Amino acid sequence: MSSKHPMPRQSQHDAGAPNTDTTATLAEGLIVDGSRGLYAVETPLGVLRCTIRGRLRKDLEFGSRGGSSRQVKRVTVRDHDPVAIGDRVRVLPTGSDSGVIEQIVARSGGAFTRRDPNAGEGHLALTSVAGLDQIVTVFAAREPAPHLRLLDRLLVLAESQDIAALICLNKMDQQPEGWLIERLHAYRAMGYPVVLASASSGQGIEELRARLAGRTSAFVGPSGVGKSSLLNAVQPGLALRVSALGATTHKGRHTTTGTRLVALDGGDGGYIADTAGIRALALGASSLRHLDSCFREFALYRGQCRLSDCTHLHEPDCAIRDAVTRGAIGAERYDSYARLHAEGAESRSSWDASDW
Ligand code: GDP
Ligand code: ZN
Repeated sequence: MSSKHPMPRQSQHDAGAPNTDTTATLAEGLIVDGSRGLYAVETPLGVLRCTIRGRLRKDLEFGSRGGSSRQVKRVTVRDHDPVAIGDRVRVLPTGSDSGVIEQIVARSGGAFTRRDPNAGEGHLALTSVAGLDQIVTVFAAREPAPHLRLLDRLLVLAESQDIAALICLNKMDQQPEGWLIERLHAYRAMGYPVVLASASSGQGIEELRARLAGRTSAFVGPSGVGKSSLLNAVQPGLALRVSALGATTHKGRHTTTGTRLVALDGGDGGYIADTAGIRALALGASSLRHLDSCFREFALYRGQCRLSDCTHLHEPDCAIRDAVTRGAIGAERYDSYARLHAEGAESRSSWDASDW
């Protein structure tokens, strides 16, 4: 090990936490950029430009003949990356700023699945932004007018992939109407943190910053609600860095299919994912089957419908519809459920949130 390279240190579950790697030469890090064979990995040694060990990219098929030395019959190079932005990997450093990804560390957190914008017609390639563990859904108090149906859609996406969701109402200086605050109270009662913020006045920014610390978050919401302004309020210059990633992601020569991450300053770390890359969110088929479990407040009534496979749409003695009638479940939330159910039944792939 040259003196230029301190002993690689293995991190635990957050980037940069020092720990000695007893297997010596591998440095643990987080993939922050790249795809299809070339990646930027943030390690305790700095950001290394990495290739990936061939065996991680290939599925080897062995022939049955061959006795002691097994013969490879066929090699299939995987269609999509074995790793994605946000994955933790172990890297063998090969130079001061280069390395080879040798191992993939088990993924933690949710995998945000999205459609590959470069995939041809009829060929649905999925890339996951592994490690994304929070979406920050942003709406404005008045301008543009908040549409909570979009919020419900985003919350279902988050629930179905076990990603935490934070609701941020920005532009509080515009004085939100009473009904909006009431609805947000209902979301808070379901267990979603709600941050009332104003990038202009600074309200709620400290709380937002605290909720971003130590997590990998994506800001989502319609354009004009103040996502960039909030990012900049959290950390000066952050919006530009996040959107610059988005621009190169889509226009750069090395077009990536993954989202990239920007590290937050401050002791507790945390990352922001480029949101341009996660516009088109696809909902896995399995989660649609469990759409009702993505509505948190329905949980109280689970198992109480007369039919065990009740869809809560038209069946007799439905505990969910009873709860809606009594006002225990919000009519708007139920309406979102019914709409999403209908959409899912029609076309599972119609889930790009293209109205952002
Ligand atoms: P984005 O498209 O979601 O990234 O939204 P921007 O951050 O670009 O903000 C859109 C517009 O809203 C800009 O003109 C901002 O100056 C304005 N804006 C952002 N935050 C606030 C806020 O808290 N209050 C008010 N009144 N305007 C804001
Ligand atoms: Zn029911």
